[in-house]
Amino acid sequence: MSHIKIDNNKCKSCYLCVDVCPKKLIKKSETIGKTGEYIAQFCDKNNECIACAQCAMVCPDIAITEVIKS
Ligand code: SF4
Ligand code: SF4
Repeated sequence: MSHIKIDNNKCKSCYLCVDVCPKKLIKKSETIGKTGEYIAQFCDKNNECIACAQCAMVCPDIAITEVIKS
């Protein structure tokens, strides 16, 4: 089950990762982050993440700290 980890303290709610994920597995959460906006949240109920790392590469704040392929 591949997965990513988003650091809530680093996310600035730009949503570039939301747009880039080919599987649409990253969404706005209900948690307010450092910019006063909702931070991004990984949501993969059906184990669709392919560990492509596009989300981590696009994040300008290096908030996606892990991409684990399994
Ligand atoms: S690693 Fe790829 S598939 Fe998985 S959440 Fe990031 S962009 Fe989406
Ligand atoms: S790209 Fe990075 S900073 Fe932007 S919403 Fe995603 S995790 Fe947060």
